[in-house]
Amino acid sequence: MKVRPISFTAGLGLFLAACSSGGPGFTTRGLIAPTAQCAADPSSFGVGEELTPFDEGNGCGIPNPWRMVSLSGVQLSKPATLNCGEISAVNDWLNATVQPAAAHDFGQRVVGIDVAASYSCRARNNHHGARMSEHGFGNAIDISAFTLADGRKVTVEHGWSGKSDERAFLRAVRKEACGEFTTVLGPGSDRYHYNHFHLDRAVRRNASTYCH
Ligand SMILES: [Zn+2]
Repeated sequence: MKVRPISFTAGLGLFLAACSSGGPGFTTRGLIAPTAQCAADPSSFGVGEELTPFDEGNGCGIPNPWRMVSLSGVQLSKPATLNCGEISAVNDWLNATVQPAAAHDFGQRVVGIDVAASYSCRARNNHHGARMSEHGFGNAIDISAFTLADGRKVTVEHGWSGKSDERAFLRAVRKEACGEFTTVLGPGSDRYHYNHFHLDRAVRRNASTYCH
């Protein structure tokens, strides 16, 4: 019975040590928050719930958050918390790009995607001192795999240099994501994105895109 209080104390000590290491570990300088407006109601094209707006007081937060479990019949591997605009963008990309590419390359629909990350209050690439990630605005999604109607799973990590149909599909959906999204990263972008696509809607002063 004495174990619990001891482990609790040890856990608390670790927590305090982490907090005292200083600040959120990122800078928000130069970042432009995405719009709080919601052009489309996510419940009209997906299954999910509207959340209470939140602000963590350090740059992270979402004024128009939703927690989605599916979009246009595509099941998410885990619920994704995103801002309203990012949800619309993911949904549009699934319908305008992913499904046509899946029909072309596999002759079937995508029925699921593996969500590696959605809202996350952290620095870019978890680099202490870097800029806050767009994930901190709920403005980015990381997708690591696509599941086809027949159960076949196409992963970014292995499919990128895998079978020819997987290579074609993954390259098409990545290339055509640029525009809908303003930042598109994946295998070859850097050492962090070898196993997923990062799709965000970062607002830049010159309205440029960063798709590498
Ligand atoms: Zn990401």
